[in-house]
Amino acid sequence: MSNFFKKATDSLNKGVATVGANSKALLEKSKINSAISNLENERVQLVQLLGQNIYNMYKAENQLEVKENIVNLIGEVDKRLELIAQQQELLKLVEQELNLVTGNSNPIMGHSLTCPCGHENPGDAKFCAGCGSQTTSTTT
Ligand SMILES: [Zn+2]
Repeated sequence: MSNFFKKATDSLNKGVATVGANSKALLEKSKINSAISNLENERVQLVQLLGQNIYNMYKAENQLEVKENIVNLIGEVDKRLELIAQQQELLKLVEQELNLVTGNSNPIMGHSLTCPCGHENPGDAKFCAGCGSQTTSTTT
């Protein structure tokens, strides 16, 4: 009886842990998504500011000369692009984690090709890494 009880609580705890990790990853995902959209907004504003600065400069001086504030603004825009790329990498990691938790496998890495020689190759492998023979894609 105590054994049954232990089994029941074990599976219950496992379920709770899965749901917990799942919602944590989902929360993380929405955080990253909002960080990306904030950065994207900043980037758009910076580009507008950059355009406004160049416009004003041209109007005032009737020529274009790359000044420090312009260089700084371009640097700020690039920084946002970099940060967006970082967040997108992070998002990929969280999605991988989420797939692990929910049991969904990556569609690209999901299926594998087992060669007649017994070596297991990635689903997109053209040749067997074990024996070098051409793989026949039977899984679609
Ligand atoms: Zn093989």
